[in-house]
Amino acid sequence: MITLQGIGSSSGIAVGQALSVGRHELHVPRYRIRAEEIPRELRRFWAARRQAREEIQTLRDNAARKLGSKYAGIFDAHLLILEDRKLGRETVQRVRHRRHNVEWSLAATVNSLLTTLDAVEDPYLRERGGDIVDVHERLQRILAGATNRHAGRLDLTEDTVILAHSLSPSDAIWLNQPRIVGIATEKGGPTSHTAILAAALGIPAVLGVDRLLETAVEGEAVVVDSQAGAVLLQAGETAQEEFRALGVDLRRRATRAVLRGPLHTTDGVEVQVAANLEFPEEMAALERVGAQGVGLFRTEFLWLARGGSAPDEDEHLEAYRRLLSIDLQAPVVIRTLDLGGEKLPSGDARREEEPNPVMGLRAVRYCMAHPGIFRAQLRAVFRAAAETNRVWIMVPMISGLEEWRAVRRFVERVRDELAREGVIVPQVPLGCMIEVPSAALVADRLAREADFLSIGSNDLIQYALAVDRGNSRVAYLHDPWHPAVLRLIRMAVDAGRAAGIPVTFCGEMSSDPLGALTLLGLGVTRFSCTPSQIATVRETVAAASARRWAELVEEASSLPTGREIHDRLDAEASRLLPWRPGGARAAAGPPEVPGSGPVPVPS
Ligand code: PEP
Ligand code: MG
Repeated sequence: MITLQGIGSSSGIAVGQALSVGRHELHVPRYRIRAEEIPRELRRFWAARRQAREEIQTLRDNAARKLGSKYAGIFDAHLLILEDRKLGRETVQRVRHRRHNVEWSLAATVNSLLTTLDAVEDPYLRERGGDIVDVHERLQRILAGATNRHAGRLDLTEDTVILAHSLSPSDAIWLNQPRIVGIATEKGGPTSHTAILAAALGIPAVLGVDRLLETAVEGEAVVVDSQAGAVLLQAGETAQEEFRALGVDLRRRATRAVLRGPLHTTDGVEVQVAANLEFPEEMAALERVGAQGVGLFRTEFLWLARGGSAPDEDEHLEAYRRLLSIDLQAPVVIRTLDLGGEKLPSGDARREEEPNPVMGLRAVRYCMAHPGIFRAQLRAVFRAAAETNRVWIMVPMISGLEEWRAVRRFVERVRDELAREGVIVPQVPLGCMIEVPSAALVADRLAREADFLSIGSNDLIQYALAVDRGNSRVAYLHDPWHPAVLRLIRMAVDAGRAAGIPVTFCGEMSSDPLGALTLLGLGVTRFSCTPSQIATVRETVAAASARRWAELVEEASSLPTGREIHDRLDAEASRLLPWRPGGARAAAGPPEVPGSGPVPVPS
């Protein structure tokens, strides 16, 4: 058996057949052709277009059947691009007149289309860039003769583990089907969007696995053990069975219908555990896991599901209505678009525009720079709030008070506008996310002018420690227990408390039992977690004393390093939660089998 080490994300263990999909870097060959080769070159282009059309049509039909017409719309857009007259005409002209090979001619045409799009005012048209890039990649892959036996197949018949170099959020469409039981990628960190998505879909995932694609054999059994952060290849039948049984056990634990309703620590502190959602469809499963509302609805997935283009007001509204159609007797927090950074379809032209997009025009900055897009979303949120009085709004990536005030004014203007149109909008709490260190440092100021705060540790850690959350090479530095991170969280929690407003915590840290206990010790009582972790977090909280954890965290915080703090708290958590992965599970797990040189992760 070969063991490849990566970063476990999401929880669980899965066994399935290896299926490699996804994107590799595009290598576009460039060479001149002789005049007599022109017809052959053009035939290659037409054949590639035909094949691409068939693939996209299959994808569209399958997506419509399995995921609904909304997702299928992405592929209609792809078909339109594929048939675009300009794309075809210019590529052919380049082949004919410049006598460049078809791959190069196509790439040059696509580049010129993207540049023209960039200058277009209409945001909708501008955003078609992501779709063009997708279609281009498909054509190049076909021209390169790379087989696409699997991409686009939504009709898997065997349990399947998806292997990829990387998966972008827009690849969500691939993952949302029952036969995909595990994911392993070469790139991606613990709080990257692939990780979040996998967790949302309840699929075990291991990311940042070096040499994955060159080592795994297509069609062979792969074990994805996200508890151990390992991908196991060439496991024998017995080992496969053992891992399968462990996976079933973990799933049972995660979905057991225990501990619904009000939740208290052993010393009587009331705690709420809401859900982080990416798709309105996930709402249906929340009641079963005991979620108390939605603490974070990531609306950018509406956008990404359309291949990176802006939904209009009615599309937003329809999604929010679906989200609110199930009443969990608790607020539903809709977060305004958080686009940019890694939340762009891979290959999107905007990645090129900004050398450092994570620090660039992301999230609220993007919204304020595109008032039409922001306004459409806010109008839809207010209209949804007018229909059910359970909506809260929160704004990502606020970095200071001036920005917050400008956002508040903008939101108020949209609200007034609707009021003038006769829509009676209830008071909708407006919350500020604390995910930029500067916001944590001035949280006392922000808390006085916000209706609630919500701490996002994924970005807070990224920005505080200068660790790209999606980069597996630096994932070893991504440390929720780093004393600097704990101090920032404490500042935000204390600020919210002092101002008498709710403080919620929606970063991934709260989906991990030890993370949740640490946060409890820092005074957090409103968690928002990945749905598949809610039952576990509830069980964890119900077994803990808030006072005891406050003392423990206080005492551990005097230790100088994240590792020491973590280990101190972990020792206590293992006593409290013997079932915790890494505790009892490791002892009862499958026998150690010699690996063939795990790739070392710096530690
Ligand atoms: C966070 O940064 O912690 C967060 C919840 O937001 P996202 O993961 O969507 O960036
Ligand atoms: Mg964030």
